[in-house]
Amino acid sequence: MTQYLTILGATGSIGASTLDVVSRHPDRFRVFALSAHRAADALLELCLKHAPRYAVLSGLAEDAALRRRFTDAGCASELLFGARALEQVADAPEAGTVMAAIVGAAGLAPALAAVRAGKRVLLANKEALVMAGAFFVRAVRESGATLLPIDSEHNAVFQCLPDGTAGPAVRRVLLTASGGPFRAVPVERLAEVTPEQACAHPNWVMGRKISVDSATMMNKGLEVIEAHWLFGLPTERIEVLIHPQSIVHSLVEYVDGSVIAQLSHPDMRVPIAHALGHPERIASGATPLDLARAGALAFERPDLRRFPCLELAYAALRAGGTAPAILNAANEVAVASFLEGRLRYTSIAQVVRHALDRVAAGEALTLEAVLEADREARRAAAGCVAQLTERAA
Ligand code: NAD
Ligand code: MG
Repeated sequence: MTQYLTILGATGSIGASTLDVVSRHPDRFRVFALSAHRAADALLELCLKHAPRYAVLSGLAEDAALRRRFTDAGCASELLFGARALEQVADAPEAGTVMAAIVGAAGLAPALAAVRAGKRVLLANKEALVMAGAFFVRAVRESGATLLPIDSEHNAVFQCLPDGTAGPAVRRVLLTASGGPFRAVPVERLAEVTPEQACAHPNWVMGRKISVDSATMMNKGLEVIEAHWLFGLPTERIEVLIHPQSIVHSLVEYVDGSVIAQLSHPDMRVPIAHALGHPERIASGATPLDLARAGALAFERPDLRRFPCLELAYAALRAGGTAPAILNAANEVAVASFLEGRLRYTSIAQVVRHALDRVAAGEALTLEAVLEADREARRAAAGCVAQLTERAA
């Protein structure tokens, strides 16, 4: 049966990989809607190629000239504008599957709309779960939506759990991390690294925000929180292991001592194809894994002096309530400032710590409480960035 698919964040790295897998299976998938943030030209190009029913441009108000440009170029998709339209296509009854691949907190509302509509939700947007995990997971339970993890580590864990949840037979989950581009750079040199160096990941090509998160290992911290919500595991049963080759994508250890891992060539089309095809297996286009060629696989424990963001994320998860939303929001502000050249790389952790100290975490029982914590954390983080910038000037 044909699956109708909405891709939120279609012009990004995950969006491109998703469309690549989808194009390999024209008999299985039809694109129902695609979204992009302000990137009109890139969206138009995708629309001409994939002919979705709807195209959504967020971050822009209704624009008649742009609408004409799409029509004149031969695009038959209906063009919608603004953040509300993201929710509209996320819960439209015509599409049963939604790929949530918007980066950051902006992805929460549309991902939740898809969950509430009981869709099959392929979740790449980890920030949504970090911010509002309790709320999100409850909405999945209540609506009967299917949540399939796209993050390679969580997709790997999912594949290592026969029924998708971690029961008492699971001793712990080990999330692997490459260690990013600065794993071996002397700690005292980290203050000088540039956005370009931070975005040059050794194994993966990703969007700029997640690339910086991978360098600081905040990405792994967010993933620890993500794993907590996806698999219902307490903090102390989620560990992080550095594995520079990015071939073992994560491992599950059982009480009998068995450890099950999922391996593949590092290519996001593998977890994307897994989730798109689930419970069947479909071709992804990824290069088959050649272990003899890969040679040795190495593992080491992360050095928390080098990666303070990882510890901050663990602390936020232990604190609970709105603390992870505060962590996430402050990190988004800090990373954006770093990418704009206004903040040192080593100050990212400082800004996040400041927000966690300054903003009181409360209960995360309502979405409003989570969004208020997010706003407060952004204000605190922006204040801290401004102070640090002034001091440096
Ligand atoms: P990206 O920056 O390449 O793409 C982001 C997409 O979201 C783009 O289509 C952009 O137009 C859209 N977008 C950006 N800001 C938006 C806003 N405010 N409102 C609506 N749309 C907006 O990012 P990416 O690397 O594809 O990552 C997407 C998500 O997937 C992130 O949450 C990331 O953590 C997660 N993820 C990515 C990878 C990867 O390999 N790239 C791996 C695991 C998880
Ligand atoms: Mg990941």
